[in-house]
Amino acid sequence: MKSAIEVLEAFDHIRRAQRAGVYAPHKPLLILLALARVQHGEARLVEFSEVEALLKELLVEFGPSSAAKSRHYPFWHLATDGRGALWDLSGPREILQRPAGATPSLGELRDHHIKAGFPVDVDEALRHIHGLLQAVATRMLEAYFPSTLQADIAAMLGLDLSVPDQVQEGAAAGAEYATAERRRRDPGFRERVLRAYEFRCCVCGFDLRIGPLPAGLEAAHIQWHHVGGPDIEPNGLSLCALHHKLFDLGVFTLEPAEHRVVFSQHAISGARGMEGELQFHGRPIHAPQHAGLRPAPEYLAWNQKNVFKTPGRRVTGPGPA
Ligand SMILES: [Zn+2]
Repeated sequence: MKSAIEVLEAFDHIRRAQRAGVYAPHKPLLILLALARVQHGEARLVEFSEVEALLKELLVEFGPSSAAKSRHYPFWHLATDGRGALWDLSGPREILQRPAGATPSLGELRDHHIKAGFPVDVDEALRHIHGLLQAVATRMLEAYFPSTLQADIAAMLGLDLSVPDQVQEGAAAGAEYATAERRRRDPGFRERVLRAYEFRCCVCGFDLRIGPLPAGLEAAHIQWHHVGGPDIEPNGLSLCALHHKLFDLGVFTLEPAEHRVVFSQHAISGARGMEGELQFHGRPIHAPQHAGLRPAPEYLAWNQKNVFKTPGRRVTGPGPA
């Protein structure tokens, strides 16, 4: 069985392989799915076809537009990551002996009943070292996803991140590692961004206060903080909690020059329709106090490429399309 430190280092190796500025949720979502299975006491290896539907659902909700099409990639490619220390594949030899680059198709993975999961030594450590599974899961969530989405992903997987109150060897190591290596946030970012937009949501104008304090108002990073987005006003938006979450889910984006709100064609609003959320489509945001605080095109381009669920709805003229 591997030690807590060895397991955490193996997962970190995968994390470090991510290029700065690139948001690729496939591997972390598969790892989180596999962690949830271990936590639920399920078998070490699972057939691709058994997890395919959930993996697809996760990628549709939390990934960029085309993510779900390549849902089988991590199931295959994780085996060559982290020096092969983190993922075991099992199935017919003619498939497993392929070069790592020759990814089997969705159909091949299904038809040949390819199974995968954590290797025995990692699986045992995750099942037996108190707090380790939660530490790995927390680190994966924090390394790849903004805080607005972390709890939703855990909830969708039924992954419990709380560590039962039981002091044992290894628990301390897990807890310590859970918060290691986070990039420091500038504590002034929130105040500066909210002030730039006069303490209201730049999409809907929400500006509730509790006494002197804004309530339910957040400073969003356009390019996410954990993938290198800087703590400066041109990378920030003042958004109510709802619009912050919708923005991080890729439900809407902003035009790079005119800063009009563009909703995704995938966003469908039923009964409320144009009186509801979609009324903001095509409207310019409430501008910040001066031009130097406006969202910069490079960060909006990052959002469109990595987060927004393309294609966008058409924007015609200055009013709602
Ligand atoms: Zn709002």
